[in-house]
Amino acid sequence: MDFQWYPGHMTKAKRMMQENMKLIDIMIELVDARIPLSSRNPDIDQLAANKSRLILLNKTDMADERVTAQWEEYFKEKGFYVARTNARSGKGVKGTQAIVMDACKEKLERDRKRGIKNRPIRAMIAGIPNVGKSTFINSLVGKACTKTGNKPGVTKGKQWIKLNKNIELLDTPGILWPKFEDQQVGLRLALIGSIRDEILNQDEMAIELIEYLKNHYQGILADRYQVDENEDKVKILEQIALNRNCKMKGNELDYEKASKIVLEEFRNGKLGKISLETPEEGTKEA
Ligand code: GDP
Repeated sequence: MDFQWYPGHMTKAKRMMQENMKLIDIMIELVDARIPLSSRNPDIDQLAANKSRLILLNKTDMADERVTAQWEEYFKEKGFYVARTNARSGKGVKGTQAIVMDACKEKLERDRKRGIKNRPIRAMIAGIPNVGKSTFINSLVGKACTKTGNKPGVTKGKQWIKLNKNIELLDTPGILWPKFEDQQVGLRLALIGSIRDEILNQDEMAIELIEYLKNHYQGILADRYQVDENEDKVKILEQIALNRNCKMKGNELDYEKASKIVLEEFRNGKLGKISLETPEEGTKEA
């Protein structure tokens, strides 16, 4: 995580969001497509009640396309507008402007009936740390627009970035806290590298990842590490340590090194496009 959340930080972030809500028509919420529920802020639905809502499933380049499609349906059924983006490459980013207009069509119609013309839609981006908010804003806005020096927590005059003649974007994204009291959520955030590694035990994390992969992505571990997926998760980690020659002095197996390899290869995409949550499981857990 970029920084620790203390009750004071949360109160401040929440107050700022409440202030910003008065100014905007639409909330653009970024989540990580690999863990769309675990990477959501628990209070955002309440904070953004009565606003048009757009969820961006970001980092689609890392996620399982089939599962991302399920998530798209899931959120649409709940009444959200949804788009898939890769903020790093820019894929899908510009296209979100048309979706914003669509999501705000009722407001535009109301304006038209009241004789209000040319009032731009005002939008803000929000999400938990590391989902790609800054990258997305940079990709959407391009280099032409310079950023202002406003820092989160500082309520200076709001700066609006004009995306086109119809849409203005609040220049600073809303940084919100994750559901950190939920251990499964913490584990998934740690697996994708959103929480600093020191917080969780590497072996524990690698073993959980191995269990998930063996149950949901048959063949991946066998192909990459030549292990027997019918074995138990700890045994599989042992096989990985053996096959990757992870040894300590005295020829003892180095589980921590093997764990680091698995985690790192998962995060760099070497194991393929993998999602760690499906709507089905997510709904069950909730
Ligand atoms: P923020 O904390 O939400 O503002 O997140 P950042 O914009 O700083 O992004 C966090 C990390 O995710 C950076 O290393 C970005 O390069 C990376 N990132 C952002 N969007 C994407 C994406 O769509 N795909 C991939 N692979 N990486 C991304």
